Amino acid sequence: MQDKYYTTIGLEIHVELKTNSKMFCGCKNDPAGESTPNGASSDTYKPNTNICPVCMAHPGTLPVANKKAIESVIKVGLALGGTIADFSEFDRKNYFYPDIPKAYQISQYKYPIVSGGHLNGVDITRVHLEEDTATSSHSSEGSLVDFNRAGVPLMELVTEPCIHDTDTLSNFAHELQTLLRYLDVSDANMEKGQMRVEVNISVSKDKDTLGVPVEVKNIASFRSAVKAALYEQKRMIDLIEEGKIGEIVKETRGWDDSKQKTFSQRTKENAEDYRYFPDPDLPKMYLHKAFDIEKMRAELPELPNAKRARYKNDYGIKDEDIESYIDDMELSKWFENVAGILKDKSKIQTASNYITSDYLGLQKSNKEVRLPKFENFVELINMVSDGVLSSRGAKDILAMIVITDESPMKIATEKDLIQKNDEGALKEIAQKIIDQNPTVVATYKGGKENALMSLVGQIMKETKGSANPALVQKILKELLA
Ligand code: ZN
Ligand code: MN
Repeated sequence: MQDKYYTTIGLEIHVELKTNSKMFCGCKNDPAGESTPNGASSDTYKPNTNICPVCMAHPGTLPVANKKAIESVIKVGLALGGTIADFSEFDRKNYFYPDIPKAYQISQYKYPIVSGGHLNGVDITRVHLEEDTATSSHSSEGSLVDFNRAGVPLMELVTEPCIHDTDTLSNFAHELQTLLRYLDVSDANMEKGQMRVEVNISVSKDKDTLGVPVEVKNIASFRSAVKAALYEQKRMIDLIEEGKIGEIVKETRGWDDSKQKTFSQRTKENAEDYRYFPDPDLPKMYLHKAFDIEKMRAELPELPNAKRARYKNDYGIKDEDIESYIDDMELSKWFENVAGILKDKSKIQTASNYITSDYLGLQKSNKEVRLPKFENFVELINMVSDGVLSSRGAKDILAMIVITDESPMKIATEKDLIQKNDEGALKEIAQKIIDQNPTVVATYKGGKENALMSLVGQIMKETKGSANPALVQKILKELLA
């Protein structure tokens, strides 16, 4: 049934920028109270501590724009391949709400800092800068307003309505989050509200006409963004199928994660309802005069796609391995050091297998797990590659060195895990096992080749797993030939 309909999605993404001070005053930019001695928690968090007359909207105060925040938006624009405006300005977006007692939000309307750009096949319309609101909480006793977040620099990115499936939606949002972290302009943590995704979605019967769009807010994770889009898609298609297309109205809806559904919040204002006009308290911005844009472009850090290409080219490792490094900068730095010492591509892939499956698995299950010193890890990989250590033995030793960070050779020697490649010694043990198992030997000689594995198993047990299994098989076949 969904095949009969055409779904169109655009995104509006708000991102709290990582600056020292707020957007228009000198207050500390710390909306979650993370600089309190024990980090953010309900016990230590103190509302209304990072505040001043400017961000509390006292009359007669004057805003001063934060240069670092403007610079951050320019960097994002350059990384997205967008156009950095020659001229830009701040506007007042007029509306009253208890969390915005100035009765306007300083935002940007006609002249955003960035226009255009692309990421992961999604076209960007614009990126502009504004201020975050205060936060309010409601209880039976009344409502409380906390101004710690009021005036925090907030970047808003708007995409074109060019997304038609939820895979594209979540890939784009995830890639943007990674990009923001590489640019070091935001930690973009969705649970902490540092990155907030709004989904604009419409459904129509043909490609050429867009349906009535609905905006969904209150989305706290990429998974919820996808669920909210799928929920709205189905809700709107059902209404059309039931002949109730008139009930689809332009509105803002919220996502209720506990109920897994959207609910109507308010019918959507039009831009003209906000009576935007240029803020007379802030100077106009001539960005190409105020900033050396070309120098900033040249100084951008390596971005995720460039890093993917470099890893593919220099190390030749699997794509899914590369993604593990793209998402974890500490791990990727460490891996680059390891790869630089190993040099050989097949050894590098072996190393990467132990890192992405074994190490990351260990890290998930135990908080004490740490990346070992490069030399210890490299020694381990060389021991496996040289056949000194079985892969079983290597996994066991890796589990130890991520806690103790000792030399794998030392551990292997102490625990007698060095793989026995001494053919003479292994032959003796093999003969002993053959003599002890006449029935198994008869079965094998009768044509059941699998019976050999039972003998291999016993030899491995006898040698505490230190025998080279391939060599053991070869010796057994020779002795039983
Ligand atoms: Zn302030
Ligand atoms: Mn906004």
